Amino acid sequence: MSEPQHHRLRDFVGSLAELLETKPAERDLLQQGSLLLKQLIRHDDWLPEPFTQPSPQRYQQYLLHADALQRFSVVSFVWGAGQSTPIHDHRVWGLIGMLRGAEISQNYERDTQGRLYAAGEPVTLNPGDVEAVSPDVGDIHRVSNAFADRTSVSIHVYGGNIGAVKRAVFAEDGSEKPFISGYNNAYLPNIWDLSHG
Ligand code: FE
Repeated sequence: MSEPQHHRLRDFVGSLAELLETKPAERDLLQQGSLLLKQLIRHDDWLPEPFTQPSPQRYQQYLLHADALQRFSVVSFVWGAGQSTPIHDHRVWGLIGMLRGAEISQNYERDTQGRLYAAGEPVTLNPGDVEAVSPDVGDIHRVSNAFADRTSVSIHVYGGNIGAVKRAVFAEDGSEKPFISGYNNAYLPNIWDLSHG
C-alpha cells in the first residue's frame, strides 16, 4: 500500500469528539456516529498494514485511537480465516464498520431461566456496512469471519476504552466469565504528523 491516508482516521476521531461535545442521546449518537463511521470505511487506504495482521491463534484487536477522556476508542479487529469471538457483551455503546472481507454477527438474548439463545437471524456485514451494539439495543453477540479462507478486517468504535472495560464472555448455558480484552498492539498509528498532509 502507498502511504496510509492518515487524515481519514484523524478527521473521524475529530468529528466524533465534536459530536460527543454536544452530549447527544445515545440513539442520536449511534445514528450520527454510524454516518461518520461509514465515511471512514468508504475508503480502504488509511489503515496501516501492521494493524491488519491476523494471528493464527485468535482474532486480533489493535487500538487505533483512544480519546483523552476515554469517552471512546477506535479498534481494528482482524479475523483470520474461520476465526470467531466467544459470546460476549460490551457494557458500552459500540459501532462496527466492515472494512475488508465480511463478518457474521449473531445476537443473543436470555430466556426466563437465564440461558442464552440466538435471537433473530445472523447479520452479515459487508464492506461499507455499519452495525450498532449497546446495552439498550442488544449487547450480547458472537462475531465470526464470514470467510473460511481469508482474513477480514472491521473497524469498531466504542463508548469507552474498550480494552479496559470489565465485561463478560458467556457459555451457551448463560454462565458468564469476567473478561477484560486488552489490545494486541504496543504502539498506535501516528495520525498527528501534519507535515505531509
Ligand atoms: Fe462485540
